[in-house]
Amino acid sequence: MGKTVTLRCKAGNHDWERPSKRGRIPVNCPDHTPKPSTKKEKSLSKMQEGRARKAKENRRGLIAGIITHPKAQNCHCPITADSTDSELLKMKSCGDPYFVCATLDTVRRAVGL
Ligand SMILES: [Zn+2]
Ligand SMILES: [Zn+2]
Repeated sequence: MGKTVTLRCKAGNHDWERPSKRGRIPVNCPDHTPKPSTKKEKSLSKMQEGRARKAKENRRGLIAGIITHPKAQNCHCPITADSTDSELLKMKSCGDPYFVCATLDTVRRAVGL
């Protein structure tokens, strides 16, 4: 049977036991040991959030630029800067039903569809 040692948890101010083993004696028990990874994950997701927001802004600017371009003045596709990928894919293009209108085509290409 493994021996256990009683250790003092500094953060929680209580005694705790753990199997006796060699190596560094922890200052705190596992419950009171701050997990540095949580903070990292948080900042990472914040970064991803910021990146996603930026990508959305870029996308809006991209689409707005195309639909306000003089080349698009005869286009009647219901494209808006906020059109989602699936909306753009389902969208019926204006003009000849057998051809995708150049504006819609350009927008789809611009957002990577
Ligand atoms: Zn503790
Ligand atoms: Zn069109």
